[in-house]
Amino acid sequence: MSKRKAIGVDLGGTNLRVALISEEGEILQKIKEPSSGDIMSSLKAAVERLISDDVVGIGIGVAGIIDRENQGVITSPNLPSISGKSFRELGFKLPLVVENDASAAAFGERWMGTGKDFKNFVLMTLGTGIGGGIVYKGELLGVAAEVGHMSIVDNGEKCPCGNYGCLELYAAARAMVGTVTKALEGGADSMLRECCKGNIYKITPEDIYEAAFEGDNLAREVLKDAGKYLGVGIANLINIMSPEAVILTGGLIGAWDIYVEEAIREASRRTFKGLFEGVKIVPSSLGDDAGILGAAALVLHEKNPAV
Ligand SMILES: [Zn+2]
Repeated sequence: MSKRKAIGVDLGGTNLRVALISEEGEILQKIKEPSSGDIMSSLKAAVERLISDDVVGIGIGVAGIIDRENQGVITSPNLPSISGKSFRELGFKLPLVVENDASAAAFGERWMGTGKDFKNFVLMTLGTGIGGGIVYKGELLGVAAEVGHMSIVDNGEKCPCGNYGCLELYAAARAMVGTVTKALEGGADSMLRECCKGNIYKITPEDIYEAAFEGDNLAREVLKDAGKYLGVGIANLINIMSPEAVILTGGLIGAWDIYVEEAIREASRRTFKGLFEGVKIVPSSLGDDAGILGAAALVLHEKNPAV
């Protein structure tokens, strides 16, 4: 029986997850804490708690644009304190692989999740923003895959990435919450007004889909609008990549019946018929564990992503 193990790290804008993972893809131990404060020190401490003699390397999935060669981060809008840093600074004497967090999640799905059934797929992480990872011919494609920053609206809102009208400004959680808040400020009638002890600035995406499932018109409209934009983005990906699957993950898939169904409808209207018939739009099976599994897989498979 093989004893090789790896440390898989998922460093996102909200949480730091670090896990000890076996070669068979079993999560043996897991640490989760907020990714705030001195992130590099927290990461080092968490890895040190889990490391053992049979660990053959450390895989790190991190939100941002990755410098694979220098095992670091070029820029991370959600984790500005690590922009420009290299994880080599941590001083571990083990092989280190650094990958974008959504790309790592895509590789995790390929290894142990929904992606097992597909050689070519795009994974989209739907949360505060939208991330992406692309698996092609069974391997992780070493490209930026910043699907949330494809331009969707000409002269649209300004995005923190520097562009205007990016997909995630219209199709992700921040957009949903922003639209609801604005509508309530303008006097819209909705059960969400009673939410959060009347503080409309505390409304979360979960509050919005709970209200939507109870039939609230404002909540339903906001989810459908966001879904429509998501569908435009998915259609672009299908027409360019002709994947076998688009795998969706992240908190927002909790609103699948309204939000994602609308996206699927919109995507079907905008894609080449033959391509749409060849693609499955499906939820991830690993959820939050995809990132740590994928990061560990990049080490255990002794392979850097194809460039
Ligand atoms: Zn952008």
